[in-house]
Amino acid sequence: MDPVGYPDATSSPPGSPGSPGSPGSAGPGPGHDGDPPGGAALTDLIKALIRDVPDFPSPGVVFKDITPLLADPAAFGAVIAALAAGHGPVDKVVGIEARGFILAAPVACTLGAGFVPVRKQGKLPAATHAETYELEYGTATVEVHKDAFAAGDRVLIVDDVLATGGTARATAELVRRGGADVAGVAVLLELGFLRGRSSLRDLNLRPLMIV
Ligand code: AMP
Repeated sequence: MDPVGYPDATSSPPGSPGSPGSPGSAGPGPGHDGDPPGGAALTDLIKALIRDVPDFPSPGVVFKDITPLLADPAAFGAVIAALAAGHGPVDKVVGIEARGFILAAPVACTLGAGFVPVRKQGKLPAATHAETYELEYGTATVEVHKDAFAAGDRVLIVDDVLATGGTARATAELVRRGGADVAGVAVLLELGFLRGRSSLRDLNLRPLMIV
């Protein structure tokens, strides 16, 4: 399975925001003033180019498939620019395996920052810090190389979808254990009905769109 975990709650009730065919709630979300990063035009692009795939990878889950967006060069470029904006100086950009890599690497290049992969357990070759967190059924572990950050680095965390927030929370802990500071958490899409942001209150969470 590609992402770290898929809570069954990612399936929206029919007619709820984010369910297939519903318009979703475009907007900057709590803590933001004015337009979302990239503006309403970008929100429209994201809405049009993220595909809901019901019952993947397991029954009851609505998978947010970003591959149509990645295949559209104008949309992909606009998303990378918006994810990179508004975080102040950034030394390193962390991408969360696996789709976070696709977004974080060009964000790092855009910002003139380094790229750091956060991977599932057992994938990184050198010495690692590890963080384990709860899933609906069982646990998951993410890791980062111990030497990935310099002391005091300002680190931007990037992923495609924020669901329960467990993966982003664990990644933020890895950054702190590496002696660095979290400058922000930038995601393409926040599944607001899962309230993942409640576990990230101390972080600067910037979704490009909330459904
Ligand atoms: P969470 O830890 O619950 O916030 O889950 C976030 C991770 O799982 C991210 O790496 C996402 O790529 C992935 N994920 C969770 N739910 C979905 C979903 N409905 N569609 C696509 N990816 C998801």
